[in-house]
Amino acid sequence: MKENKTPFRPPCAECGGKCCEYIAIEIGKPSTKTDYDNIRWYLAHKDVHVFVDHNRKWHVEFRTPCENLTADKKCTIYENRPRICSRHGIGEQECEFFASPYLLYISSPGQFEEYLLKKGIDWRFKNQDARRRRQ
Ligand code: SF4
Ligand code: SF4
Repeated sequence: MKENKTPFRPPCAECGGKCCEYIAIEIGKPSTKTDYDNIRWYLAHKDVHVFVDHNRKWHVEFRTPCENLTADKKCTIYENRPRICSRHGIGEQECEFFASPYLLYISSPGQFEEYLLKKGIDWRFKNQDARRRRQ
């Protein structure tokens, strides 16, 4: 006999639209001085963060609420919302209501420089070294 299992639905009404408060764009894992420098630049901006997810993928995150989100946290274009929204959280416990999506979360250039230092990564370009020595 076939099991009549109701598909999992994330508890959006309870959650208050946590996933509607930002956008995140995947970036490659940084590996060159230019990559490190670009991330320092992203992080120098207000409400911009960089994170690594549980699949070890790097993202730049912009903390800015969706214009379609009402004050009481409802989507005004629910029937016509982008696919990325309708697919978010369809796997059980695959949304931030249940657990943090972040393996690593970096909020400032200083935090990123500290992370690189701990990894023994020299992120400075040669001219930055020379400038630092002159200061
Ligand atoms: S984070 Fe999950 S529960 Fe919350 S609104 Fe998004 S999909 Fe729904
Ligand atoms: S379109 Fe709707 S579901 Fe998608 S982020 Fe905006 S408010 Fe959330």
